[in-house]
Amino acid sequence: MKFHLAVFGCQMNSNDADRIRTVLHGIEGKEVQTPEEADFVIYVTCSIRQHAEDRIFGLISNLRKQKKKEERLMNTEEELAHRRRPVIAVTGCMVEKTSSQTSDKKDKLLVRSDKIDLVFRIEDAPSLANILREYFPISDEYSGEFPGIFETLPTQTQNYSAFVPLSTGCDHHCTYCIVPHTRGKEVCRSKDEIINECKEMISRGAKEITLLGQNVNRYYFGKRRINPYRTDFAELLDEIAKLDGLVWLRFLSPHPQHLGEDVLDVMAENQNICSHLHLPVQSGDNEMLQKMARGYTVEKFKETVSLARKKNPGISVTTDVIVGFCSETEEQFQNTKRLCKEENFDMVYISKFSVRPHTPAAQWEDDVPLVEKKRRYHEINEVLKKSSKTNNMGDIGKVMKVLVDRVNDKNIAQGHTSENKIVEFQVGNKGRRFIGEFVDVKITGAKMFYLEGKIEN
Ligand code: SF4
Repeated sequence: MKFHLAVFGCQMNSNDADRIRTVLHGIEGKEVQTPEEADFVIYVTCSIRQHAEDRIFGLISNLRKQKKKEERLMNTEEELAHRRRPVIAVTGCMVEKTSSQTSDKKDKLLVRSDKIDLVFRIEDAPSLANILREYFPISDEYSGEFPGIFETLPTQTQNYSAFVPLSTGCDHHCTYCIVPHTRGKEVCRSKDEIINECKEMISRGAKEITLLGQNVNRYYFGKRRINPYRTDFAELLDEIAKLDGLVWLRFLSPHPQHLGEDVLDVMAENQNICSHLHLPVQSGDNEMLQKMARGYTVEKFKETVSLARKKNPGISVTTDVIVGFCSETEEQFQNTKRLCKEENFDMVYISKFSVRPHTPAAQWEDDVPLVEKKRRYHEINEVLKKSSKTNNMGDIGKVMKVLVDRVNDKNIAQGHTSENKIVEFQVGNKGRRFIGEFVDVKITGAKMFYLEGKIEN
């Protein structure tokens, strides 16, 4: 069976896709690069915004139409006999119930579109062999039972950078967020399992590991301790940083409510923990933060950022902001804009609020018009462009260590720094050998969202 994985959304989804790949290889599946070539297409989805959901439905509909068109162009009996209708599956955050078009109780996605054959919850991925017997001749010798999604080690498309989840789900219940509904309650993996997976990834060639969790710094082992001197997350981070052979360690995304001095101290003590903090603020207005149920104030957020910068000089700080959340006034929006100006973020991921079902915000009026959300988006983006460019200008002349991600056909390499800044630089004809390698690059230019440089000899 030829399969294709189409992945949308965050790194957690990419990591899920890597584990699905392992299961499908286990039943002799062969991965292909395009959905058109595949017998089985799996969309690993994101439901964080309505736009993401609509896009998946659009893609599935296009694929079906294209296949129908191909069938109409087939002339001979033989061609028609070999026509394939790819089996289409959806998994990830959009799925509530593992089911197929033949199930008595179908997931709402199957009801919405008969173009989807089956959907499965990500925790059911280890049983895919059994699920797929309805569609493909899979030998009985494949039990298809991996013990669990986290025991199914990921098969990555590249080995130099690995993602290791600490937990899944979230208990925080921010009022706009669908994650607690789609991914369920927070479940933390055991410390041994995480450490073993990190060691395995390093032995496969990982130079960089990113620890993942919806609320990564809430990680705990055993019983959650209240106000401890050192949180379980800080302890785990410290232990992983000390593993032999690990060059860079990152984590995504910490929650400002729980980010204490202990984590910032561990970052300062371990030189291989990257000089980057992504701390999602969402709003710069206390009333909005309360309405979002974020659990911190603007003052507490600013205090944490200031402490992070003091303990880790040169650290880059990035954030997420939602504009146009229910009843957000102009004044409240201006508070967010002011915070962005004051904090000089290196990057702000801005989203226009969109209502998600099953969230408290779905009960409230989505009363900021789209045109107004777009204006607010644009205003924050203008602030970001200035802060990002100014911060990047400050890097000119520095020599930065860059982990190379790709090289284009004009021999321009692109990679990222410890601060998670993008750097582009020219390499020679055989530049592809740099992919997955660290290169020292002298920064010679600063663009809005990336740096330019040349290899330092
Ligand atoms: S912390 Fe809030 S925004 Fe983040 S996943 Fe949990 S509920 Fe969603």
